Amino acid sequence: MRMEMEWSRKAAAAALLAVLAACGGGGDAAVSESAAGDSAGAVATGDSAAAGGPQASAGQPRSNLPAGPTTDLPPNELGRIMVLEYHRTGSPEGEFVRTLDNFRKDLKALHDAGYRPVTMRQVLEGNIDIPRGTTPVVFTMDDATRGQFYYRPDGSMDPNTMMGSWVSFKEQNPSWGPGGMVWCILPAAAHPSNFFGETADRETQREQREATIRKKMEFIVQNGHEVCNHTLYHARLDRASNAQQAMDWIGIGEDSIKAYLPADYDIVTFALPLGMWPDQKSAAWQGTYRDGKRYENKVVLEVSGGPSVTPWDTRWDPHSVDRFIVAPGALEAQLRRWEADPTHRYISDGDPQTISYPASQAQYLNRSALGGRTAREVPAAAAPAAGAAPAAAAPAKAP
Ligand SMILES: [Zn+2]
Repeated sequence: MRMEMEWSRKAAAAALLAVLAACGGGGDAAVSESAAGDSAGAVATGDSAAAGGPQASAGQPRSNLPAGPTTDLPPNELGRIMVLEYHRTGSPEGEFVRTLDNFRKDLKALHDAGYRPVTMRQVLEGNIDIPRGTTPVVFTMDDATRGQFYYRPDGSMDPNTMMGSWVSFKEQNPSWGPGGMVWCILPAAAHPSNFFGETADRETQREQREATIRKKMEFIVQNGHEVCNHTLYHARLDRASNAQQAMDWIGIGEDSIKAYLPADYDIVTFALPLGMWPDQKSAAWQGTYRDGKRYENKVVLEVSGGPSVTPWDTRWDPHSVDRFIVAPGALEAQLRRWEADPTHRYISDGDPQTISYPASQAQYLNRSALGGRTAREVPAAAAPAAGAAPAAAAPAKAP
């Protein structure tokens, strides 16, 4: 069913130019007004696709996988986790650009230091099912650019994309486990930010383009990744002319993504464009649009803030989840920091039904968030010796 756009294409294109330039500084996010117009008009023409249980973490059960590198650190499930934030691939690097080479190094550095990917949905639901001695990490991928995920003309996945790199890394390191990437999509942005570069053009028939978008969404869902809404085309919510416009950008954005997802897929995560809130803050997590249709975002992602607390923590607010921007040197520095002093690093006890924490964190335990889970206090990690070499504090064991 074709959706009617409720704003002028010109305004959409102008807004898109402004926000993408601010977010990514040009490069492959550069757009033209005509391209934005075309893509806004072409959005959401797909019908709701296939059935299937899309919410579960798909792929091989983790219990069948090797544990991989872990730490000897005692559990601390009131520690913090990084919700990493990536945007475009390219060079030179900046706050919103990572080279593919460094993205691949990030995967290896995290894996080898005992980190394992989980989705935002898993964090929200407290379903952090990773081996004892490891730390969950969420990968959020903003703006759906072509360098993130692309199929080549022969139908094969482009290995020189973030998804392509992830797939080959996982093949070589099965302990990395299923899923863990959260794709924050702009369904009506201009090329190359419309479903990772799938924009209408004269050479590509609409049916073919939509089939490719559906193939990408299927791959994401079936491999245990997560789809996240990032608004229709990245307009700043603080610049909406009223609350209804902000709600339309979110609600219609969600509809336009869902057009390519299984009918029962529930989008729970929403990323604020540029971290900007609408005047009516609650519009970020719930609202109405189009004659009473409703949306609800259980998780609202900020654009910055550093490592995040988790649902067992009294300081957890799913409507304002901090993220960690993978700016040049930032992730490397944070990994060194937690190696030198793991006091605030989340360390799993290996059992999603038990929440283990040291006495020093007990004040932050939110018992009402436990559901049927058991909380237990455990001995703390030894404090790092003054002046100790960072690597000595938390060595990762080989598998
Ligand atoms: Zn963005």
